[in-house]
Amino acid sequence: MKYDVVIIGAGPGGIFSAYELMKLKPELKVVVLEAGQPLEKRKCPIDGKKIKNCIHCKSCGIMNGFGGAGAFSDGKYNITNQFGGTLHEYIGKREAIDLMKYVDDINMSHGGEGTKLYSTANTEIKKTCLQNDLHLLDASVRHLGTDINYVVLENLYNELKDKVEFHFMTPVETVAKSGDGYVVKTADAEYTCDKCIISAGRSGSKWMEGVCKDLEIPTKSNRVDIGVRVELPAEVFAHLTDELYESKIVYRTQKFEDLVRTFCMNPRGVVVNENTNGIVTVNGHSYEDPALHTENTNFALLVSKHFSEPFKDSNGYGESIARLSNMLGGGVMVQRFGDLIRGRRSTVSRIAESYVTPTLAATPGDLSLVMPKRILDGIIEMIYALDKIAPGTANDDTLLYGVEVKFYNMEVEIDNHLQTRHEGLFIIGDCSGVTHSLSHASASGVCVARYLAE
Ligand SMILES: Cc1cc2nc3c(=O)[nH]c(=O)nc-3n(C[C@H](O)[C@H](O)[C@H](O)COP(=O)(O)OP(=O)(O)OC[C@H]3O[C@@H](n4cnc5c(N)ncnc54)[C@H](O)[C@@H]3O)c2cc1C
Repeated sequence: MKYDVVIIGAGPGGIFSAYELMKLKPELKVVVLEAGQPLEKRKCPIDGKKIKNCIHCKSCGIMNGFGGAGAFSDGKYNITNQFGGTLHEYIGKREAIDLMKYVDDINMSHGGEGTKLYSTANTEIKKTCLQNDLHLLDASVRHLGTDINYVVLENLYNELKDKVEFHFMTPVETVAKSGDGYVVKTADAEYTCDKCIISAGRSGSKWMEGVCKDLEIPTKSNRVDIGVRVELPAEVFAHLTDELYESKIVYRTQKFEDLVRTFCMNPRGVVVNENTNGIVTVNGHSYEDPALHTENTNFALLVSKHFSEPFKDSNGYGESIARLSNMLGGGVMVQRFGDLIRGRRSTVSRIAESYVTPTLAATPGDLSLVMPKRILDGIIEMIYALDKIAPGTANDDTLLYGVEVKFYNMEVEIDNHLQTRHEGLFIIGDCSGVTHSLSHASASGVCVARYLAE
């Protein structure tokens, strides 16, 4: 089968490549090959009660399928160059922001209208943070919520499905050069094309490594983020979340001078299990619909670990720590902050007597048996620092779930058009190592589509 463009992966990167190509060059023959299911068939059997651990579905309902890793996410589109990826280093700061705003416009015209756009610019909160040794990063944040995010994806698919070919449950096995183009092979078909856009996300990172090796595309990998998810009464952070929704706050620890940061804040949200390659870690999300709100707010506190030579397996390091928590807790572990600083484990009764009711049924335990001291010390310092701008954060009943791990893809060598050293082969989104967020991954898709349409 011969195509103008083959897109590998139907996450935000792949979807927005297809969308923009169809808008600018509807005459092109484009196919999207996706390892997972269509949106409506995606489902994870882990419910935290009967099924706590991964049962290794053929295609992971959380990570794979139309919408990619973000399909059931909180749908927070951060419009900023300060975090979420380094796309601006390739295409320039202005262009990166313009593309993210464009993606926001598309989301608004596909079901997102009416959702709120928050901004950190010139807020009093920024000043209060600075006065307390904390740094609030600049961003505009569109919060779609898990429910509206799903509607937007549904609408995008309905618009694309008659113009672009989608093949689900079709994992690509190999990508090879063939004349001036490429041949993309799956278990039972071959697709030849002039241009190939790979947007295989984090779940496709191992496969991506193989492709880079086969095609001699240089890569590097040295980062992982490790931490906990904090859950506390929504009132404690309400003055921040009501105004900003998501606040990315960074703190430099006094003890080790490590950077600890808040990540993925979910006002009145829920803490959830996340499954990465069979290892259960913790995450969180929230709904736009007030009927689905809880009494708690959750967010992650993460410490970035950058390794130097000779160690190369940063993700393996993160996986080992997460595996340890799974071994001790049979899944995700939860501990009251008061128990952690008193050096004792949390128990079922201590959690039951707590004034904060957990939104995830995790196993009460002792995070100090799992987390490296340096990381845990940094998190404790940050909790006390946050207590100054949001009194109540360092309360005994604040819940800490562990562990939260943010795995990073290796960084792939690409040029300013996100093109590899092989003409016509583009690597975009999270699998390039350049992005790690919905807005940056989506923007990278638009960027390549526009370049191809020129
Ligand atoms: C639970 C969760 C919540 C998140 N919440 C947010 C959030 O609120 N805000 C935010 O900015 N970011 C969030 N993220 C991160 C965000 O989802 C990703 O940064 C984004 O989805 C990356 O887009 P992508 O297109 O690069 O990759 P992905 O979304 O990972 O999509 C890649 C697709 O490629 C497919 N694929 C992989 N290998 C192959 C292959 N060999 N052949 C065919 N198909 C393949 C996969 O099945 C997948 O569907 C969240 C992530 C998770 C897991």
